[in-house]
Amino acid sequence: MAKNTTSTASRPIHSAARARIAPPEHVYPVDEWNIVEKWPYPRFLAQTETIFSVSNGYLGMRGDHEEGGPAIHGGAFVNGFYESWPIVYGEAAYGFAETGQTIVNVTDGKIIRLYVDDEPFELLRANIVEFSRVLNMREGTLDREILWETPAGKRISIKSRRFVSLVHRHLALVDYEVRVLNADAHLVLASELANRTVEGPDEKDPRRAAGFDGRVLERVSTLGEGLRLVFGHRTRTSGLRMSCGMDHQVETPGDYTSTTETSANGGRIVFSVVVQPGESFRLTKFLAYHSSSGAPMEELCARAERTLNRNLGIGREELFSEHAERVEDFWRRSDVQIEGDPGVQQAVRFNLFQLLQATARVEGYGVPAKGLTGQGYEGHYFWDAEIYVLPFLIYTAPRIARSLLRFRYGMLDKARARAKELGHRGALFPWRTINGDEASAYYAAGTAQYHIDADIAYALKKYVDVTDDLGLLYDGGAEIMVETARLWADLGCHSEDLDGAFAIHGVTGPDEYTAIVNNNRYTNMMARENLRAAVWAVEFVKTVQPEIFARLVDDTGLDLSELEAWTRAAERMYLPVDEKTGIHPQDDTFLAKEVWPFHETTPEQHPLLLHFHPLVLYRHQVLKQADVVMAMFLLGQDFSLEEKKRNFDYYDPLTTRDSSLSSCIQSIVAMEVGYEDAALDYFLDAALVDLADLGGNVIDGVHVASAGGVWMALVYGFGGLREQGARTALSPRLAPGWTRLRFPIAVHGQTLEVDVRQETVTYTLQEGESLTIRHDGEDLKLERGRPVQCPIAPPPGDAAQSAP
Ligand code: BGC
Repeated sequence: MAKNTTSTASRPIHSAARARIAPPEHVYPVDEWNIVEKWPYPRFLAQTETIFSVSNGYLGMRGDHEEGGPAIHGGAFVNGFYESWPIVYGEAAYGFAETGQTIVNVTDGKIIRLYVDDEPFELLRANIVEFSRVLNMREGTLDREILWETPAGKRISIKSRRFVSLVHRHLALVDYEVRVLNADAHLVLASELANRTVEGPDEKDPRRAAGFDGRVLERVSTLGEGLRLVFGHRTRTSGLRMSCGMDHQVETPGDYTSTTETSANGGRIVFSVVVQPGESFRLTKFLAYHSSSGAPMEELCARAERTLNRNLGIGREELFSEHAERVEDFWRRSDVQIEGDPGVQQAVRFNLFQLLQATARVEGYGVPAKGLTGQGYEGHYFWDAEIYVLPFLIYTAPRIARSLLRFRYGMLDKARARAKELGHRGALFPWRTINGDEASAYYAAGTAQYHIDADIAYALKKYVDVTDDLGLLYDGGAEIMVETARLWADLGCHSEDLDGAFAIHGVTGPDEYTAIVNNNRYTNMMARENLRAAVWAVEFVKTVQPEIFARLVDDTGLDLSELEAWTRAAERMYLPVDEKTGIHPQDDTFLAKEVWPFHETTPEQHPLLLHFHPLVLYRHQVLKQADVVMAMFLLGQDFSLEEKKRNFDYYDPLTTRDSSLSSCIQSIVAMEVGYEDAALDYFLDAALVDLADLGGNVIDGVHVASAGGVWMALVYGFGGLREQGARTALSPRLAPGWTRLRFPIAVHGQTLEVDVRQETVTYTLQEGESLTIRHDGEDLKLERGRPVQCPIAPPPGDAAQSAP
């Protein structure tokens, strides 16, 4: 195999993805505010279970149908509610993670089975006359309408709506109405709380969740009264507890009966009624979920009852309208409008909606890689939250960003213990986790990703810079800075071989197709940033808040001489440039390796991780995801435009995008260096990863990091947003084919609207008194309600002509 000939390497995945780029039109027709399913295609069942999920970040329900089937991986999830299991290694070693954690598919409350004259309604067997299912992104509901003709010729209209409340985080609601159009009929509706059986593990695909043998949830209490049923459940091993309750309101003209049944696997309330032609039976099902590791079961069940009582009192219509108002508020703060391509607008809104669903009521928990839409990656929290989701939140919902950073702070003691276990000073945050303990069973692509520490520090600093909320710095932030900086100071060394440059050995960067290397560029640069930020944070707190500083010293045992060591390490950080090519090597040996034989690899062999041993991948120049290019985005100020272009030209052809975390970043950097067509292509890859199921794994849940990346590609990429210290800088340019791009951002407690057209951009300060931003390198003072129009700068150089 030949050595790398830079940008001539082929880009098989990209072109394969492009061929499939359009979402299946007949399944999800273009509609800017809705994802509409016009027919229940069995082929798309698995995907639609994810796509039609509803969630508020605390509680999530997959998009399986109310009638309990057809379902492939139906269910519901409660954030942070996991089962643990011993990780069994064929050959264990010191310090390996010992306990796996997997988010639990909890008691499913959405089920309402329907029988008409004893005929069960089974979606895929029934004679369906009309069908439509809509993820209504404007109001935050999943709505379905079906016209069914029974074998006896009775026409039954079934309408349902479900949502997980943004206002009451423990509440979900299912509104289910059955109307018999042309005859009288005997209806039975069985409303269930079901404890699902759990399927076996998928051992081959590391992106999927481990399975359990048998049921995870043990029922420890049952309470039934009237139309209410409340269960108390406990996980077998992790010992977490949750209560799940349901209650009902019925609207029907005549009399009905109800009976309650419970079994080992759940319980049901069965409604029975005879309706006349044109009459309906409407059931509103209220669901409450509460979970805790500490609270006793009785208390959790009482909480579920209180949630039910309160919301029964509020009633369906009011609950729906207050929920819809919250969704409207979300769009007011976060919508990104695109004119010129309604399909793209739809995909963008879908991604933004997923961000809402993954984070809105996340208080006290993290953001799993799949949100609460599936069990992929075991429901773990990764760097995805800090690097991909936090920017969106910082600029649109800073309160939620703060809560996530506080959640990380809550893990600091465990991170200190983990660092100690590995023989380090400071704190080492887990690469993947739910409860704060490292849960990565493959250390080479897990614990070795030390960059998680710098990612957290980076997000923290960005939050403080953009929001001016210094309170977070005093309230845990500075402590995180100190402990992460200590980790780097301890992990690296001033290498004699490198004339005293600070080198960091034996780490894995973001690119998981290269592992355990020396001087990963991304890691070294992010570590430098972390060290600098820690010095800044400590000095700032010392000067401005001496009492808090005293506490910080007390809590961390900080010695001011450490600051000198951090400064020296940052100043002397080893960041070489390859003399021959002028590019920044991904690590010390990357450039010496052979280039991956892309021409011999078929599209079916992607993702490579499922077809090649890690060692084969490790000895080639091939990237699972952006690494140096990622650094060029996050730390753009540390690269010249020429360096960015050179590095992009080199690494882009080597990047498979086997991870969905790449395309958005490639898009942003491509735009910056002037490759506008490539920027749009990559952007579409990211925007359609779930709707078009580009990775073939949407069944496991939506790709939340990529959804955050879609926002970043819009706002940083096409919007040209950059943070220059405390200054917000913009340099927008539309993507080819678009006529308008409009978005709001919250900076320094003020709200700025950016409205980009082909020739001009208009900045309007919507909230706040005055704000100075930079447009194309020039300061621009904005005052509330006085829009300022500026010309759009041409793309940099004539780079676009030589796009790869
Ligand atoms: C990526 C990681 C990411 C994880 C969860 C992996 O495939 O390589 O960077 O954190 O997925 O999204």
